[in-house]
Amino acid sequence: MTRSLSTDVAGAAMAMHEAAGVRCLMGVGVTGITGRKGQLTVTLDDGTELRAATVVVGIGAVPNDGWLAGSGLTVENGVVCDEYCRAVGTTHVYAVGDVARWFDRARGAHVRAEHWTNAVDQAACVAHNILHPTNLRAYEPVEFVWSDQHGWKIQVVGDTTGSAATTLLGDPTADRRFAALYADGQGLLRGTVVVNWPRVMVQCRKALREGTAWSDLEPGLRAVVNAASRPETKA
Ligand SMILES: Cc1cc2nc3c(=O)[nH]c(=O)nc-3n(C[C@H](O)[C@H](O)[C@H](O)COP(=O)(O)OP(=O)(O)OC[C@H]3O[C@@H](n4cnc5c(N)ncnc54)[C@H](O)[C@@H]3O)c2cc1C
Repeated sequence: MTRSLSTDVAGAAMAMHEAAGVRCLMGVGVTGITGRKGQLTVTLDDGTELRAATVVVGIGAVPNDGWLAGSGLTVENGVVCDEYCRAVGTTHVYAVGDVARWFDRARGAHVRAEHWTNAVDQAACVAHNILHPTNLRAYEPVEFVWSDQHGWKIQVVGDTTGSAATTLLGDPTADRRFAALYADGQGLLRGTVVVNWPRVMVQCRKALREGTAWSDLEPGLRAVVNAASRPETKA
């Protein structure tokens, strides 16, 4: 998870898995799976053999763009598009969803996203652009994905890739909730990973939508954290 959530959050996630009894083997590949249904042997490249009743393979995906070869479109790991999700070099061809690699202004690069929120938000943007060719809207999403693991509701908003978290709220090992926040060189919040903490999530989503400076956001977040750490009082 270091690629998508950065090393600090990935470490916390791995500790969470291990605390739940999951054994994580890192830095080792699979050379083969033999046996039959219910009685499988997985062989690793260091010679280790693991017995398994069930094997789940999660090795990523590639966009199904082969059928576009020879179409005249620029196809390189998906359909290459401008910031309006319009296939480069065309005026009336758009791409949406997993197969679209559009120019994301915020990152200054072509990006492909593989999740439902992206497919839905991008479709709305492209529908607008088809209907309003003289008033095109750039696709500038605040990405949002989530996952539920061992009682952790992990929510990821914006861009969390690359660097370490700027600020960590809460203690991943001691608390059942924490948040990692990522600001850029200009002090703008760029992304956040929130675990089991809906009030922090609401603040961060709003800040990301509005492009709030980290210094403006921090007092509000501190208030949420302080409120959470006050002992509960009975009415
Ligand atoms: C195992 C798995 C788990 C996932 N879990 C999550 C999750 O928890 N949360 C999340 O946000 N996202 C998840 N995703 C990603 C999510 O499913 C995709 O991002 C989303 O479905 C993309 O939508 P899409 O319309 O771009 O593509 P798709 O849903 O893949 O639809 C493309 C369609 O085009 C069809 N097609 C392909 N080629 C042709 C052709 N030549 N002619 C006609 N039809 C064609 C395909 O059959 C398919 O029906 C998961 C994906 C996988 C594989």
